Amino acid sequence: MERQRIDVLARQIQAGFTEESAVRQSLEGRKFLTPKIVDLLVACAGEENVFTAGAELEKHSQDHSHHLPCSPEMVIYARSTEMISGIMRICNSHRVPVTPCGARTGLEGGSIPVGGGVSLDLSKMNQVLKLYQDELQVHVQAGIKKEALNDYLESEGLFFQVDPASNPSLGGMAATGSSGTLCCKYGTMKENVISLTVVLADGTVVTTRRRTRKNSTGYDLTHLCMGQEGTLAVPWLGFVKVTPQPSGESSLRVSFDSLQACSRAVVKLKQAQLSLSRVELLNAQSILSLNDSQKNRANPIQLEPVPTLFLQVHATSAALAAQELDSAKAIAETEGGRSFVLATEKEEQQQLWDLRRGAYFACQSNRKHLVARGATDVRMLTTDVCVPLSDFPALIEETEEDYNATAEETGIRFLCNIFGHAADGNFHCCVMFDHGNAKEVEVLHQLDRRMWARALAHGGVVSGEHGAGMGKVSALAEEWGTDAIGVMWRLKKPLGPTQRTALAEPGCIVGTLITAQTEQLSSRAMLRQGSGVFGADSLQGLSTRAPLQSDGDRDSDRRLSGAKSEALQPEFSVCHASLSPSLLRCLDEHEILNPGKLLPSGTR
Ligand SMILES: Cc1cc2nc3c(=O)[nH]c(=O)nc-3n(C[C@H](O)[C@H](O)[C@H](O)COP(=O)(O)OP(=O)(O)OC[C@H]3O[C@@H](n4cnc5c(N)ncnc54)[C@H](O)[C@@H]3O)c2cc1C
Repeated sequence: MERQRIDVLARQIQAGFTEESAVRQSLEGRKFLTPKIVDLLVACAGEENVFTAGAELEKHSQDHSHHLPCSPEMVIYARSTEMISGIMRICNSHRVPVTPCGARTGLEGGSIPVGGGVSLDLSKMNQVLKLYQDELQVHVQAGIKKEALNDYLESEGLFFQVDPASNPSLGGMAATGSSGTLCCKYGTMKENVISLTVVLADGTVVTTRRRTRKNSTGYDLTHLCMGQEGTLAVPWLGFVKVTPQPSGESSLRVSFDSLQACSRAVVKLKQAQLSLSRVELLNAQSILSLNDSQKNRANPIQLEPVPTLFLQVHATSAALAAQELDSAKAIAETEGGRSFVLATEKEEQQQLWDLRRGAYFACQSNRKHLVARGATDVRMLTTDVCVPLSDFPALIEETEEDYNATAEETGIRFLCNIFGHAADGNFHCCVMFDHGNAKEVEVLHQLDRRMWARALAHGGVVSGEHGAGMGKVSALAEEWGTDAIGVMWRLKKPLGPTQRTALAEPGCIVGTLITAQTEQLSSRAMLRQGSGVFGADSLQGLSTRAPLQSDGDRDSDRRLSGAKSEALQPEFSVCHASLSPSLLRCLDEHEILNPGKLLPSGTR
């Protein structure tokens, strides 16, 4: 892919990106909860479920991502639908942001309560309500974790077929449109959730559909609530599909001499329509990290440090599984696959897949290299992109090349661990970095943005399964186009209030637009357009009132019309929502923010 084109796209994404420290600075000292609101929430949720200080706040200030922690003002453990409905109603009417969370295993910061307010934890709502054997469906509460559900299903000869390498809640998985290693055969959460019962910002409880196999009336509200990352509704209950445990299961590990050959084999394997349940690829660096992480174990496993495929077949009999795996082996050989390791026994397979699941944690072994050169604040960037399968070999090769070329140009060499769900065209890139080294952070951000840009240029998306969270919002306009973002806004608007809403957490999809709106209207703003800023003319009419208070009496329409507002002067201070030109155009076209005033004439 042409470097120049990628650079342009990456710069467009960069233009919409705001440093997290600036976000934090702009939000510092903001409080949404008054003693009166605290009393209302305690009365609704019960004292035993509400925390306003101590370890609970700290726990809920972060997830598994590299994003900086940010404390909520209150943590509430949800226990019933009535309670969630009441909390949402109170928060909504007092403009208190609510960030729902499940197991907080997210990798894009979606459950970090950046705006403060309430962290609504659904992890205690973790019951299986009923198994429907005939239809292969189970009715569960959203807080149940994947492994707990599988423990329950095992005795029934069933399993839940969406299998991320983490142990998240089903509500979190639905909210992020999660998938995992079994996606190749069984699909993502989007294919496996039949119906959800959700609570909207105003407390309304809606069931998105009945649990029949088919339904041809009405809009598809289930899918509207999938992948919305808590910005639209809070799912607390759902019907999901389950699958009988396969009678035949076999696995295979294959080594390749090049990443290209390895990823070309993936394309051929997928085209062959075998019963492959898992097709996972690890690059040479990931294998090195795995080897490193094994070193201190009693019986360390050491693999040849070359690109490697982990394959698995699920079939109706052991004989059929063996036959299918033979076909897979033959296909891999045509692309130079070698050093085959077959695993048919349960224990052997367990060992093979434990290795693959360990790939994420193995990256932590890279930490010591950074510490050795003096790094004190080591973090891990974990990101995922997804492209049509035919573009997968090119994308993965270009990504490795970019990391190598950047090391030559800048002298900064990152250990780039690439692994992922290859048959879906989806891979993760995990890189340890020194957060205290500004130059290093900048170079890594550029590499990361170029990877997103490359995925977009190949017809792909900036995240196949982790969501936008707070990390990838700046790329959404480039991925979706401004019209689609506008449609999302129009769907969001009637479901929640027009200002910062209970669900409009900064950094989350449409929530970003809403937050941008309130921030732009409530503080002096710096609106970047590429390297420049807008002049005073284009900012005429924007209000500069004090930051929002939690009194719930704001009239956003009055403020949108600019009535009683003070025009901005051509002096700027940093606002946490500096927007990319594409997003600005979107806000402008859809009259979201001060219609017609944001873009200088001639640029619309
Ligand atoms: C080691 C490791 C491996 C991983 N592997 C995979 C993988 O293979 N595939 C994959 O898809 N992901 C993977 N992930 C990422 C993560 O596990 C998923 O994104 C998961 O779906 C998050 O679920 P959670 O319950 O932890 O949600 P949280 O992290 O708590 O929240 C994630 C988002 O969902 C929202 N949310 C959570 N619950 C609700 C609810 N009930 N209602 C409304 N919104 C809600 C939150 O506001 C937030 O925006 C991995 C993470 C780790 C640490």
